[in-house]
Amino acid sequence: MNIILFGPPGAGKGTQAEILINKFKIVQVSTGDMLREEVKAETDLGKEAKLIMDNGELVSDQIIMSMIKKRIVKSDCKNGFILDGFPRTLKQAIELDKVLESLKLNIDKVIEINVDEELLLKRIIKRVSESKTTRNDDNSETLKKRIQVYKNDTLPVIKYYRDLNKLHTINGMQKIEEVSKDILKLF
Ligand code: AMP
Repeated sequence: MNIILFGPPGAGKGTQAEILINKFKIVQVSTGDMLREEVKAETDLGKEAKLIMDNGELVSDQIIMSMIKKRIVKSDCKNGFILDGFPRTLKQAIELDKVLESLKLNIDKVIEINVDEELLLKRIIKRVSESKTTRNDDNSETLKKRIQVYKNDTLPVIKYYRDLNKLHTINGMQKIEEVSKDILKLF
């Protein structure tokens, strides 16, 4: 089972991803987590990515594609994977199609968790005030920037899958359990 999960910052994507991981015994492939590991390990890639991430901007498609290509061929992905935070640009989506074709793999479900911008901003303010995370990009200015970037770069990707009739949009403005229920109905 291979899944793509879309959702702007604050949509509850992480929580829903976890439910799917447990249900299908698949792994989460989060490009954001992979980048944060590089930053922590202070690799060259991590050093390059850090400033971009702290500003809420996007790391280059080239870096992301090379990470993804290496990741999805690992043995733990055999049972399937959930792509979280990827693809984020049209270029990444088109490249992903090529990579999957060469590996003879398919995406089974493309899911978008949809949340109004106004509610996202409210959630962000709450998240920041409660946050004790060490994420440098968890401050309101950067989160707002990330929402903007999501609208500019990632909504066209969502449209790409919608036009291919592959997209399932879920109302993310309900209780967590209701969102999960709606997602699980797709399977
Ligand atoms: P996330 O944890 O998915 O919100 O990602 C955190 C940050 O990592 C983003 O704000 C981007 O700077 C970077 N990033 C993660 N995934 C991607 C991607 N697919 N393309 C470009 N940048 C990414």
